[in-house]
Amino acid sequence: MTAIRAEPASAEGKWPFETPPPPIPQADIKKTLVADIIVVGAGLSGMCAALSAVQAGATVIVIEKGPRCTFHGGWNGVVGSRLQKKLGLEFDKAEVVAELMRWSAYQADQRLLRLWADESGPAMDWLLDMADGAGIPVEIEADLKQDDFYKHYPTSHLFPRPQGTMAPRNATLLHLLESHARAAGVTIHFETPAVQLLKEERGRVAGVIARTADGYVQLDARAIVLCTGGYEHDPEMLKRYVPRALNVTVNSYLPPLTTGDGHKMALWIGAVMDDAGHCPLLFDGGMPGTIIPLALARQPFLNVNLAGERYMNEDAPYGYIANADLLQPGHVKWTVWDGKAEADAARFHSTYCKRMVPPLHSPEIVRWAIEKGYVLQADTLEELGQKMVLPEETFLATVRRYNELARLGQDLDFGKPSSRLSTIELPPFFAAKTGAALLGTLTGLKVNTRLQVLDTAGAVIPGLYAAGNASGGFFANDYPITMAGISHGRALTFGRLAGLNAATER
Ligand SMILES: Cc1cc2nc3c(=O)[nH]c(=O)nc-3n(C[C@H](O)[C@H](O)[C@H](O)COP(=O)(O)OP(=O)(O)OC[C@H]3O[C@@H](n4cnc5c(N)ncnc54)[C@H](O)[C@@H]3O)c2cc1C
Repeated sequence: MTAIRAEPASAEGKWPFETPPPPIPQADIKKTLVADIIVVGAGLSGMCAALSAVQAGATVIVIEKGPRCTFHGGWNGVVGSRLQKKLGLEFDKAEVVAELMRWSAYQADQRLLRLWADESGPAMDWLLDMADGAGIPVEIEADLKQDDFYKHYPTSHLFPRPQGTMAPRNATLLHLLESHARAAGVTIHFETPAVQLLKEERGRVAGVIARTADGYVQLDARAIVLCTGGYEHDPEMLKRYVPRALNVTVNSYLPPLTTGDGHKMALWIGAVMDDAGHCPLLFDGGMPGTIIPLALARQPFLNVNLAGERYMNEDAPYGYIANADLLQPGHVKWTVWDGKAEADAARFHSTYCKRMVPPLHSPEIVRWAIEKGYVLQADTLEELGQKMVLPEETFLATVRRYNELARLGQDLDFGKPSSRLSTIELPPFFAAKTGAALLGTLTGLKVNTRLQVLDTAGAVIPGLYAAGNASGGFFANDYPITMAGISHGRALTFGRLAGLNAATER
């Protein structure tokens, strides 16, 4: 990461990113385009906003910084879809909202959570209709192992990976949205980053200026929907809002286009960010040197820090594991397993992205990780400890104690469930060094339940909407991974609603 100032630079205590750049002179505008709605950003929230707005009768232009629509992962978390109902998966929405409020330490806006609980099912039904029309089968990850500490909710809807590729499953969903949007008349301009919002004297946002290879273009509209994603690639914003994210081993949000542009453009015209503790999407199992998270290295085996000591219940939700890892020396840990690992992992029955299935687990990928040195292998624990360069006596004592607890079937030291304990005694022995990975920032501009952006006084900035990771009020402090896929779930639900609401602007 690049060097950054440790504190606000200006006399008013503003951070440099909060200071608006000089307005772009009218003479520099090479072209003007007009539509009812301009959507900024072609990720999941942006494409849902664009499609819903055009379906509501608006003319829509999407401008996107990168060369294509953005997609990641594959878990799309909603409650109350028709697929869930068909499978008999019922949700108590009040309970779901209460659980999300607890994860946010009551710093989320409960009204937005309720909105998601009520509207995410219909939003998924809208996507399922398109999937059905294209013959795309969608499945739900429902065989979740309920553990002793956390309730897991069968929220995730998974689209199939594009055939014969390693592309994320959500590539299929974004292709579907893009083709429907284009067919309905949406124009998408790639490599056209928005740089400044245009606000009329009466306070209404009525346009945006974007940069193209041929110069600046002005886009006039009745409403602008900011769907520019997070600020995971702006070190200064990370320092300001979520400093622990600066110590991650890997920033997995690629390509690195999400630099908080929507947040900044809105702040420059009077919008305000969430006051709550900003929420990063932190992931355990970030391997230094690669963005591929090996499923085997993320199982709840024994974790030791660089002092060779155990420091936590390895079976915590992955964001919590990442938090604990970030507090260790060097912000990393070693995960240690033995020759019984495959059988142990099958018994552990880890779900979501820790599932022991391709592409994140297979004999080939384990061999690849050993060959590349991401996973160390040794015939004895002494040899493994030396390869890991850990204090030998401490490491061996930690393994002895762990084996004692595993044989006892009770983790007296850290309370890991007995179903996820196993001795480390059968050679060969393995170890992988991992830290936290950053999968995005999830807190942003204050919005109301119409997804309109608010100013410092809490008043609506007319004509300006935000959805997805550009918007706030939904997550705080930590990502509720037990409600799997809910970052996509918010993006698709609120993107759709923002588009529908923006289409009603006069
Ligand atoms: C590896 C990985 C796996 C993940 N898996 C999951 C998962 O399974 N489930 C889940 O819920 N979440 C997952 N996430 C997180 C999730 O992908 C994001 O939170 C979500 O996609 C955000 O959607 P969005 O529409 O807000 O932003 P994005 O999808 O990031 O879209 C923002 C778009 O805006 C564009 N943009 C930025 N600035 C400008 C500008 N100035 N002008 C024009 N365009 C601009 C960007 O290029 C981008 O295309 C994952 C993240 C990663 C990195």
